[in-house]
Amino acid sequence: MNALDIKDLNVWFGEGLDRVDAVKGASFSVAQGESFGLVGESGSGKSTILRAITGLAPTWSGQIEIEGQALHGARRDRTFYKTVQMVFQDPYASLHPRHTVDQVLSETLQLHGMTDIDARVEKLLEDVGLGGRFRFRYPHQLSGGQRQRVAVARALAGEPDILLLDEPTSALDVSVQAEILNLLTDLRSEHGLTYLMVSHDLPVVGHMCDRLAVMKNGEIVEVMDKATLRSGAAQHAYSRELLGESLGA
Ligand code: ADP
Ligand code: MG
Repeated sequence: MNALDIKDLNVWFGEGLDRVDAVKGASFSVAQGESFGLVGESGSGKSTILRAITGLAPTWSGQIEIEGQALHGARRDRTFYKTVQMVFQDPYASLHPRHTVDQVLSETLQLHGMTDIDARVEKLLEDVGLGGRFRFRYPHQLSGGQRQRVAVARALAGEPDILLLDEPTSALDVSVQAEILNLLTDLRSEHGLTYLMVSHDLPVVGHMCDRLAVMKNGEIVEVMDKATLRSGAAQHAYSRELLGESLGA
């Protein structure tokens, strides 16, 4: 059974003349434990695919299956959020400014029906390389990288199987991007996680992902594995163009 099966997914916003077809006929599968990338220029529909999966893009057609279970409409039940969690691009926007790290994590753990909250908060902070001394800090007392670590800890609180990562490092200083990517790589192997990761940065995806889909204007133009990406053997002209750009060619 795959972690994720997407078949002929269409996602649109608005109606009539205002309608924007953000994703058109996208199909791909992500195996359990796999790390799968979505790449493509800004506006190509990458985030919209993640948002459709989590229920944040209400109008879609086609099939979305999570661990063999088909999703219907925009409603997502509690089991879903125990299976799938999303990490957003901007840790500044995704954390409440008046909540301490402890509040953020304790409340999330409670929502997931967890017990032993105290011990779990400590463990989560340790898992993301922060440790207990960060526990009672507010977001403004943390660096961008530390905030994204808290956002990752929050995503892990319910012990999900699948993380949807939407450009998880692109709002961070270049110097801390690699740290967070390495953390994500370690967490995937330690927790047996499956990743669906959006990035406009091909080297990042080449480093982090086993396979990737190249998107253009809402469509997937090519799915390839890491070896194909690295050897520059992409089939589609657009993939080669994107690849050439990112290699500075
Ligand atoms: P990417 O993540 O690849 O940069 P997005 O998935 O955010 O692209 O956007 C894909 C397209 O859908 C863009 O044309 C964008 O303007 C449009 N879009 C995204 N969200 C909305 C929305 N809430 N309402 C209307 N159009 C949207
Ligand atoms: Mg996006």
